[in-house]
Amino acid sequence: MPVDDSRLPGFHKLSVTERRRKVAEMALLGAADIATLENYGELDEEAANRMIENVIGTMSLPVGIATNFVIDGKPYVVPFVVEESSVVAAASNMAKRCLVKGGFRTNNDKPIMIGQLQVIGVEDHVAAEKIIFGAKEEIIAKCNSLPSTMIRLGGGCKDILTRSIQSMSGPMFVIHILVDCRDAMGANAVNTMTEMIAPDIESLIGGSVKLKILSNLASHRLARASATWTPEELSLDGSRESGESVILGIINAYHFADADPFRAATHNKGIMNAISSVAVACGQDWRAIEAGCHSWAAYNNGKYSSITHWEVNSDGDLHGSIECPMAVGIVGGASKVHPAAKANLNILGVESSQELAGVIAATGLSQNLAALFALSTAGIQAGHMKLHAKNMAVSAGAVGGEIEKIVEFVHNHDGPITQQSVVSALKKLRENTL
Ligand code: NAD
Repeated sequence: MPVDDSRLPGFHKLSVTERRRKVAEMALLGAADIATLENYGELDEEAANRMIENVIGTMSLPVGIATNFVIDGKPYVVPFVVEESSVVAAASNMAKRCLVKGGFRTNNDKPIMIGQLQVIGVEDHVAAEKIIFGAKEEIIAKCNSLPSTMIRLGGGCKDILTRSIQSMSGPMFVIHILVDCRDAMGANAVNTMTEMIAPDIESLIGGSVKLKILSNLASHRLARASATWTPEELSLDGSRESGESVILGIINAYHFADADPFRAATHNKGIMNAISSVAVACGQDWRAIEAGCHSWAAYNNGKYSSITHWEVNSDGDLHGSIECPMAVGIVGGASKVHPAAKANLNILGVESSQELAGVIAATGLSQNLAALFALSTAGIQAGHMKLHAKNMAVSAGAVGGEIEKIVEFVHNHDGPITQQSVVSALKKLRENTL
């Protein structure tokens, strides 16, 4: 169910049980969803064994809730599934700081996926294109003869494009079918359609159809989100001047990512910290999304670059936007099979694949700003290491009450913290010399 408010002051101070109760109340979660989240190994043997091959067990990851998101005027509490500390806190922090400017706005494409057919041995590509275009309606009708709820709901093949490419194996004629997948990610439907029409394509233009498969560079299924942050909201000391100087640092950091693939890789990885975490939480194929975002980052600019864009607007505010392929579904795949994915989608309360795409894009933008802000001011390590302190304490061998004492040591420590300094602190704690 959609929630009434995503501002949850003090949420991080509650116990895990209290937080779960609060989110369950807000999102009107059913008993089955609550039980799933309570149960730390929520996939039973039968379900796990159905999902993949050669199953020997399961492995859990935490579900954390990012707060403060308001997207297109609607509040969302957003589930993240990730092993890295500080991701959820950072996304929530920047989502809060754009609330005075109304939160995030999205503008997403229709859920159109591309299916590719690779045809080899076609001599005259211009003539082949003419034949395919002449038979377009017939080919589309064949695709849409698939008995499918997706097509019944207004989805299905909508258009056909052709491309001529040069390769190391020689020229290849490539056909793209454009399929509206409605609320599904759509890979299976698209792949089925490409296989269905392959014999017809060979009859029409000759040659031999080889690969028949979806493209993850879903350039017709872009999600877009944008938001504005005032200098006051980004200020280090509350003054507008400080905020303006922070914004200049952020723009400079963005220009570095825009210009340099080495930096862009890490810049985009930071964005995927949110995108992949929400995707995993909602049972999406996160490899498909990763492939789409990174290939778009290269394709869209002619070189590998940032999938976000940052600029200063005429009011002196920071305006950020993100545009990337977002092939997600609220039916199909694991979204309706994995009990935790079902619970997380219920917490999010999205009603369409496009709405989910917009929410995911907004989290990516917020995450990106959190990284740019930290990197261009104090650096990320101070905040990250403090949130990572519990993991470091456990890795060093701390147990029970030792963990909190080591976390306290890390919080009060001046200068860089390394695993070795945590190990030494634990030794001293046990010798009563800390
Ligand atoms: P799916 O096969 O479960 O198909 C979705 C089903 O839901 C269809 O039968 C459709 O008719 C039905 N449906 C019901 N209500 C619908 C609605 N409102 N809108 C749309 N469809 C509706 O799932 P999928 O989305 O076709 O495929 C996703 C899976 O494919 C993922 O698990 C993914 O990992 C996998 N996959 C990915 C790739 C790739 O990314 N390259 C390749 C192959 C398979």
